[in-house]
Amino acid sequence: MAMAEPIFWINPGRRKLVDCRQGLGLGMEEINDAADRLVRFAPLLAALFPELALTGGLIESELLDVPVFSRRVFEGSGGRFAGGLFVKADHALPVAGSIKARGGVYAVLCLAEGIALSAGLISGPNDVYAKLALPAAAEVFGRFTLTTGSTGNLGLSIGVMGRALGFRVVVHMSTEAKAWKKRRLRALGATVIEHDGDYSLACATARQEAAGDPQTRFIDDENSRELFLGYAVAALRLNDQLAARKISVDAEHPLFLYLPCGVGGAPGGLTFGARLVFGDHVHCFFVEPTQAPCMLLGLATGKREAISVRDIGLTGRTEADGLAVSRPSRLAAAYMAPLVDGGFTVADEDMFLGLLQLREAEGLEVEPSSAAVLSGPRRLFTEPEGREYLERTGLLAVADRTTHILWTSGGALISSDRHKAFRERGREAREARSLRP
Ligand SMILES: *Cc1c(COP(=O)(O)O)cnc(C)c1O
Repeated sequence: MAMAEPIFWINPGRRKLVDCRQGLGLGMEEINDAADRLVRFAPLLAALFPELALTGGLIESELLDVPVFSRRVFEGSGGRFAGGLFVKADHALPVAGSIKARGGVYAVLCLAEGIALSAGLISGPNDVYAKLALPAAAEVFGRFTLTTGSTGNLGLSIGVMGRALGFRVVVHMSTEAKAWKKRRLRALGATVIEHDGDYSLACATARQEAAGDPQTRFIDDENSRELFLGYAVAALRLNDQLAARKISVDAEHPLFLYLPCGVGGAPGGLTFGARLVFGDHVHCFFVEPTQAPCMLLGLATGKREAISVRDIGLTGRTEADGLAVSRPSRLAAAYMAPLVDGGFTVADEDMFLGLLQLREAEGLEVEPSSAAVLSGPRRLFTEPEGREYLERTGLLAVADRTTHILWTSGGALISSDRHKAFRERGREAREARSLRP
């Protein structure tokens, strides 16, 4: 890992759910509560965002068949990969165009609900939440500032949701954040503060500025329970989507999730939700850039948030801006220690190659952070650590009955010119390896 070589890691600390559920703190009750809150807010979201009319105000992505890409994974694994393959298309989530439309939006709604209740704008959970789109509510929300640290997408989701309700929004951006995301946020009326440092620094500054100011609410991606639960709700929805396709998840039909990991809130929340919903029959793998494997480093050393990728000589720099994090979330790392199956790292060039192949095979356009997961099934079935794990756990014996989900996380808001430039990098990577298309 320190040499920035791709690694594949199996978590020796993974526990059966019965053996770790008690110690987790959060459980099914909290996930259901989050799901209910999103239902309460749905009419308001449908009123604020026309693109949510079709789903009645719920922000959800499709589970896509990817037959051509699947064939390619099979061939790329030398015929070893077996099972069904899908893309969970969070790269196209409405409202924020990234996976942050789950956690970020949910965190803002939690704050809005608390403020609306204490200001008497709504009387309780059974009141009409669509009232919160009225000017009287915006006036109340406008007395509060939401602040966060972000590599780009979290700031965007909090900015879009927060500004739609009338909050003031201040986003502290790390160096990775793309100029167009900052422009978009400023156009929404948010304040963007640019930092010359990494994500942890941007978060620390936001945390400090919020401390002691009763009118400022800090959304803490490194520790937030709300973000975590907002992501976890996706597991309930995935359960419904699999059921609609008559795909079972049980000992005979295990489920594999490949999740892109930055600070760990998104993949952590998804893994937490999935383990509670599917029990021991879901197997979650985190994917990180070779230069920023903060969660895998934290889990493998047991040091969690106390170790940074810089401590082992890595830069933390990557084109996968959503994953450019050098120290994991304390909350996510603690939850993942007994829940996650393992993970692996990917070089930036392989992300570009992956997004090119996905576009050629299925016409889907994703950003590098999303593309990190695309090599998951091939690597699990071909790398020695993956093969050994599949054999030891008995999963290899039922491999043809497995379902694999590549969880993409961003891309929809990116201009076609930028997507084109990403694919160009993919072609360069392909040429460098003299691979045929
Ligand atoms: C934020 C983000 C992730 C990872 O989420 P974390 O909560 O930071 O682990 C993955 N992909 C994209 C596009 C993101 O913006």
